Amino acid sequence: MQDCETKSPWTQFLEFVQTRCSRAEYANWLAPIRLAQATPDEIVLEVPNIFVQEYLLDNFKGVLSNFLPMRTSGDLAITFVVAAAPKKEASRAPLQVEPETSDSSHYELKLNQHYTFENFIEGPSNQFVKSAAIGVASRPGKTYNPLFIHGGVGLGKTHLLHGIGHYIKEHSKKTKIQAITTEAFINDIVDNLRNKSIDKMKRFYRTLDVLLVDDIQFLQNRLNFEEEFCNTFEALINQNKQIVITSDKPPSQLKLSERMVARMEWGLVAHMGVPDLETRVAIIKHKSESRGLNIPSQIAFFIAEHIYNNVRQIEGAVNRLCAHSRLLATELNQDIVERILSEMFQSNAPQKKVSVESILKSVAAVFEVRVSELKGESRIKEIATARQVAMYLAKELIDDSLMKIAVSFGGKTHSTLLHAWKKITDQVQLNEILRRQVQMVRRNIES
Ligand code: ADP
Ligand code: MG
Repeated sequence: MQDCETKSPWTQFLEFVQTRCSRAEYANWLAPIRLAQATPDEIVLEVPNIFVQEYLLDNFKGVLSNFLPMRTSGDLAITFVVAAAPKKEASRAPLQVEPETSDSSHYELKLNQHYTFENFIEGPSNQFVKSAAIGVASRPGKTYNPLFIHGGVGLGKTHLLHGIGHYIKEHSKKTKIQAITTEAFINDIVDNLRNKSIDKMKRFYRTLDVLLVDDIQFLQNRLNFEEEFCNTFEALINQNKQIVITSDKPPSQLKLSERMVARMEWGLVAHMGVPDLETRVAIIKHKSESRGLNIPSQIAFFIAEHIYNNVRQIEGAVNRLCAHSRLLATELNQDIVERILSEMFQSNAPQKKVSVESILKSVAAVFEVRVSELKGESRIKEIATARQVAMYLAKELIDDSLMKIAVSFGGKTHSTLLHAWKKITDQVQLNEILRRQVQMVRRNIES
């Protein structure tokens, strides 16, 4: 008891939790907190950043209430102040070891030279992510931290990640930066464990200014590695060092520990969408021009309409056209392009025999209407549009007379069907949402 009186309640709290959490956890989260002021009614804690404050309250609120004064409202009587600049006192946190001096050539930064911000074509689907990436690259550790980029395969996540790397390398040469795939990170751990050089590796990662991690989904089901990654992550973020992570899924859908998911959701979670038609055309133009091939706009649109959900495939198509055009030495026209690229075209998948009923069912599901309404006469806009889409698809996908098809639509005439087909053909050119809905129905039918 006597001892307690001589020690501040904060110190008592620290001593208590030190026995209950891991060394790394303590070093990363608790050691960096400084007791700025203490009175019997209140304490003031200086934290390096808001994350440390959140961590403390999320994990130790109950324990803290046993040691520290409470306000009449029932809240803990703690005031937090965020330290103005990151603390350089390495000795405070045992894991922030002295800067790496020995050979680190093994950890050389490898960036794809083409993956720069300049080469990244912007559109509505990726504008937000790109500006977040530029923000992070311009002021590492000071805007969004971590920046978590997620989206489907081949949409440019790695490209933007390396873009950040290039930008920082070019603008602040002293910044210590590492870009790594999650697989490589895991391999590094394995190698270093084998060579008994794991401490050196830890030291390297924990003294970085910027860590760029690609494809974090590969950390799923790798428990031991997850913990090591999480410790590295925490050590860096608590020194306000920048972390950028890419993934094929948002954090909440990753099979990782709650601790890891929560860390990744701290900063900005940004989604990389599928580029719209115009952006795909711009990408085709950009990629082909950089390879010295001029693809006419009409052809670029034609390709973009047929390859729509993976930029890597679009790039593959451009490469193939470049190779052929060198051999052919003729102007590209739609027929040639279709012949060269036909097996890459997504809507050219072998077609099954399609029935009007399957089209109606698919349209009803995507447009959220009933099949009976599609066959009926209602002029409510949503229903009428859905009905016209069904007619359009029936004409596109069913190899039968228009008259016969029209009958399956509750006895419509063949001119009604033709009118619907023309209208939707025009509208899908202009209306991206409608185009996507039509694609979705088509895919449902064809899959
Ligand atoms: P992900 O990591 O999302 O699977 P990548 O970054 O590897 O995708 O991108 C696949 C290819 O597509 C790369 O060659 C990249 O340069 C290109 N790419 C993707 N999006 C764009 C874009 N918006 N502008 C230019 N190229 C892009
Ligand atoms: Mg990638």
